[in-house]
Amino acid sequence: MADRAYNFAAGPAIMPEPVLRKAQSELLNWHGCGMSVMEMSHRGSQFAEILASAKESFKRLLNVPDTHEVLFLQGGATAQFAAVPLNLMDGGSASYAVTGNFSGIAAKEAEKYGRVSVAYEGRGNNYTHIPAQDELNIAPESAYFHYCANNTIFGTAWDYVPETGGVPLVCDMSSEIMSHPVDVSKYALIYAGAQKNIAPAGLTVVIIDRSIAGRESAAAPQIMSYRKMIDKDSMLNTPPCWCIYMLGLVLEWLESQGGVAEMDRRRRERSALVYDVLDNSRLYRPHAESGSRSMMNVTFRTGDEELDAQFVKGAAARGLLNVKGHRLTGGMRASLYNAMPLEGARALADYMKEFEVKHHV
Ligand SMILES: *Cc1c(COP(=O)(O)O)cnc(C)c1O
Repeated sequence: MADRAYNFAAGPAIMPEPVLRKAQSELLNWHGCGMSVMEMSHRGSQFAEILASAKESFKRLLNVPDTHEVLFLQGGATAQFAAVPLNLMDGGSASYAVTGNFSGIAAKEAEKYGRVSVAYEGRGNNYTHIPAQDELNIAPESAYFHYCANNTIFGTAWDYVPETGGVPLVCDMSSEIMSHPVDVSKYALIYAGAQKNIAPAGLTVVIIDRSIAGRESAAAPQIMSYRKMIDKDSMLNTPPCWCIYMLGLVLEWLESQGGVAEMDRRRRERSALVYDVLDNSRLYRPHAESGSRSMMNVTFRTGDEELDAQFVKGAAARGLLNVKGHRLTGGMRASLYNAMPLEGARALADYMKEFEVKHHV
């Protein structure tokens, strides 16, 4: 590892090195057209090919059924916090499971557009726990039920798809999209800010059941209308061209590696290396309950802020970057996305063990 560190940042995050190299090789002259993807018209045939191919790869990899459309939007997952209620609430109500920071923000945003019923609130346990099915209280009249599959900050994740009794299911998959197979047909809508696991910042992917589009409130900005974006194939206005191109390269890489089933195997292997250290440690305490653990973001602390700071500093000195936890949790967080090599997780686990031997009293 001469010039590339292991980057454990939560997002924007590590990208597969072969993807960066491919982008570099095509940077000045894409496929002989004499210009960079950054410079070409989004209405031209070359970019049309880039977008269509990224969309096809995306649908193939996640096995997206024909009932659903894939959209490439802007504004991050945060724009979807507003777009979802603006399009789907229809002046009524919606249920939200609040299992972390982002699902809390999403619920708060939705309150501007209708009634929000809280199906689960995890504040009381400091978001260490993911509710079981029988802990969910989904109001049957809800226009939809919203949850966040992987809680990036607290390091917890749902290991099942909630049953809603017929209420349309909406999910924020920002920090786990393309890390495992998903039965897309169960969802009315899935969204993901791309900068965690699949592309550079600036792109949000939405997978939507076409039959739920077209109910947006009259006041909804056209840029947030799913119906309009479906009709225009994500090109109502200039799309995030460069990010879509990079997404296409990431997905090409992903397919060459064996797709989402292989990503699932790798995330289990990577995260097990780190959780194994935590489970055998007298120094570190994991944040998440054992049944609620995320395989994408592993959160832990020593219980001593000074020692946590030393841990982070020592990690950086070895090229293990960005392991400082979010300010809401403190301690440490290691994000282990698709592009993180197993050796990166192993280097972190080894460092954790060494640090414990040196500092445990
Ligand atoms: C990062 C993140 C967000 C916020 O994403 P932006 O693209 O910055 O708006 C929302 N939800 C989850 C789960 C995230 O990880």
